[in-house]
Amino acid sequence: MISFKRIGLRLLLAVFCIVIIGLAGIAVSYSLQQQEELAREAETSLAKITDSVAEGMTAIMLGSHANVAPEFATRLRNMPNVIDYRILRNDGFEAFIDNTTIDKVNDFLGSYEFTGRPKREVAKEVLAATDPNLKKVLETGKRVVFYQTLPGGERHITTLAPIQSSPVCSGCHGQGELVHGVIKLTTSLKEVDRDVERTWWLSIGVIVAALVSIVGLIYWVAHRTVVSHIVAFSKAMETAARGDMSIRLPVRSKDELGNMANSFNEMNEELEKIYAGLREERNKLSSVIQGASSGIVVTDAQRTVVLVNEAAERILGKSAPQITREGFMALFDDPAWMEERLGRENNTGEIRTWHALTLSVQVSTINDTSGTTIGSAALLRDVTEEKRLENALKIQSITDALTGLHNRRHFNEVIETEFKRWKRYAQPLSVMMLDVDHFKRFNDTYGHECGDRVLGAIGEILRMIDSPSLIPCRYGGEEMVVILPGCQQDKASEVAESIRLKIAALVIDGLKVTVSIGVAGVADVPGHKIALADGDALVKLADEALYKAKEGGRNRVCAAKQNPLPLDGD
Ligand code: GH3
Ligand code: MG
Ligand code: MG
Repeated sequence: MISFKRIGLRLLLAVFCIVIIGLAGIAVSYSLQQQEELAREAETSLAKITDSVAEGMTAIMLGSHANVAPEFATRLRNMPNVIDYRILRNDGFEAFIDNTTIDKVNDFLGSYEFTGRPKREVAKEVLAATDPNLKKVLETGKRVVFYQTLPGGERHITTLAPIQSSPVCSGCHGQGELVHGVIKLTTSLKEVDRDVERTWWLSIGVIVAALVSIVGLIYWVAHRTVVSHIVAFSKAMETAARGDMSIRLPVRSKDELGNMANSFNEMNEELEKIYAGLREERNKLSSVIQGASSGIVVTDAQRTVVLVNEAAERILGKSAPQITREGFMALFDDPAWMEERLGRENNTGEIRTWHALTLSVQVSTINDTSGTTIGSAALLRDVTEEKRLENALKIQSITDALTGLHNRRHFNEVIETEFKRWKRYAQPLSVMMLDVDHFKRFNDTYGHECGDRVLGAIGEILRMIDSPSLIPCRYGGEEMVVILPGCQQDKASEVAESIRLKIAALVIDGLKVTVSIGVAGVADVPGHKIALADGDALVKLADEALYKAKEGGRNRVCAAKQNPLPLDGD
């Protein structure tokens, strides 16, 4: 089936319609003209015949040969194409058949000048006396022509021609009548119609030939000058739309089509350059992504994984096909965690993997300029070592190198935290202050290094105490401090005593040392606020107890006086 989606065929159809309308118009008007011309010719020839017959009749009658008139009419009837040819009296009856006219003339002359024919025949009424055409001829004295179409479609033309009255006629027929008879001539228009039909067929033939030639010519011209360019342009555009920008159009003219081809070529050249630039950028970007030390996983809008770099495979311990298969949300085998991160503002977090790595993960949705989500991405960094170092550094920053205990800075932080906790929740809290006895002398006697080993050993004993809540710190020099959260002063004194004994039993390089310990605890008095300003105040109490222990002879534990502080409002 022909498709009129093609521009050439649409153009052809338009041209075809225009030409056929034009040609049909010309043909119809020409044929009608021809038809009219032929009819006029037929009428004219009939008029000539009837005129000459009328003249002949007049001559016959004037020569007083009225008796030959019927024979004359009969002979005329045998002419080719003549259907009917008769001479009629003014009353519509056929003349020269009976004696009506002869009797009328003889009556007028008052003698039997003309001999009547034996009355064997009866004149036939050919036209009614009231026939409008007959009446018109008689009244006007002019010829009347009319047409008839028979049931079979054959057409006849009839001329009613008057036999004019003249002064010569009045001798026999008298005066007063304009017309003395009518010649009726009917001929068939079969031949004329055949000519007309031939003219019509000729016109149709000419139309078809002209139509074919004109349409063909116009199509050829249109195709060569316009359609072929548009078709080539359309194909080139399709090729370019598929991404092949190498296609060029031939520039055959300097008109609009030529300009269009030229512009297309320039546009493709420009696009090729841009594409090359973009490809280069993309390659660079791909190299960067693939070579990145961070893992990168990217999805499309439907969260189908479309990119996995080598680092991501390494960090996740999975191959790219496995990651793609398992899906973006199962990257860390924890879809709920991923879902939560994707919905957050701050979407960076840390996660431990199944193979004991700590990963820093940034998950985000990717939106285009209109805000439509076009994908998601995860940026992964293996921070296991980083975290280990960070922790080590953190521990180092709060640890005293010589004793392995927490340093003073850490102590200051913890004591304040624990003090606040006691104030808020009335949770018991004690502190013990420990000082090596006569250590100056020890150093002086056995050397500073030996003194250091002693401090290290004391530190180890404090660290080894079987109580997870106990926080031993080096307070400064050979003084240690132990925070005991949740521990009341009495219990703390017991712990201090056991420490003292352990240290006293300690032998370093064959040498022994003793320590004095001062203990202070906050009283656990529900509903009462004790006027102790801060952690330092508690430490101060323990220090005072330590002083007492020193005074008391050293190598002993001294507790601060229980509830030494006034209650609020006292
Ligand atoms: P007391 O029984 O009254 O405490 O007498 P003492 O000699 O211990 O007196 P004090 O506590 O004032 O002396 C502190 C001494 O501790 C001074 C210093 O030689 C010693 N010391 C402080 N820090 C260190 C250290 O890091 N290593 C060593 N080996 N000795 C230290
Ligand atoms: Mg001291
Ligand atoms: Mg001392």
